[in-house]
Amino acid sequence: MSGPLSGKLGGDVMDVSAQPQQYKLCSECKRPIAFAAEYYRCSVSTCNRKRTGLFFCSVSCWDAHVPMMRHRDAWAEKTVAPTRQQFLAELAEEEKAQQMAEQADKGRRIVGLSDDGLPKDVLVVVSKLKAYVKARSDMSTSDGAIDVLSAHLRKLCDRAIRHAGTAGRKTVMDRDFEAILASDDD
Ligand SMILES: [Zn+2]
Ligand SMILES: [Zn+2]
Repeated sequence: MSGPLSGKLGGDVMDVSAQPQQYKLCSECKRPIAFAAEYYRCSVSTCNRKRTGLFFCSVSCWDAHVPMMRHRDAWAEKTVAPTRQQFLAELAEEEKAQQMAEQADKGRRIVGLSDDGLPKDVLVVVSKLKAYVKARSDMSTSDGAIDVLSAHLRKLCDRAIRHAGTAGRKTVMDRDFEAILASDDD
C-alpha cells in the first residue's frame, strides 16, 4: 500500500502536510476539533450518518443546528475524539474495507449473476399475469406468486434444455416444452 497513511507514524520522514491536523472541523463554527479532545454529537440518527455526520465543538454550536434541522426531541452527546493514531488506523481500516467492497462489487458486476451463477430474474410479465388472474377471477396476485412462477419456469427450462440436448439439438424448441408438459399430464 502507498499513500499518506503508509508512512511511519511519528517518524521524521513523515510528510506533515499530508496528515490531518485535527480530527474534524465543527459543523457549525468550522473551528477544529482536536485529536483526543471532547466534542459533541447530536442524538438524532440522521445527524450521525457515516458520510454526512455532524460534529460540534460545543453545546452552543450543537444548539445552533437544532432549529435548522427541526429536531423535536434531541440532545447533545459528549464524545471524545480519537487520538491521531487511532484516527489514522480507522482511516486505513476504512480504506481497506472500501477497497474490498469495490473489489467484491466489481466481481458481481462482471458476472451479473446470483450465487449459483444463474440469473434469478422475474420471467413473467407481471402486469399481464395479474391482469389475466383479475379478468379470470377478479382476484389479485401477490408478488410472491411471481417469484414462485419464475422459479417454476426456470425448472421447466432446465428440463426442456435436457430434452433438446438428448435430441442432439442446440436450440430449445416448443416441442421440448410440449414433451415435458405432456408427461406431466399423465
Ligand atoms: Zn463550533
Ligand atoms: Zn441534529
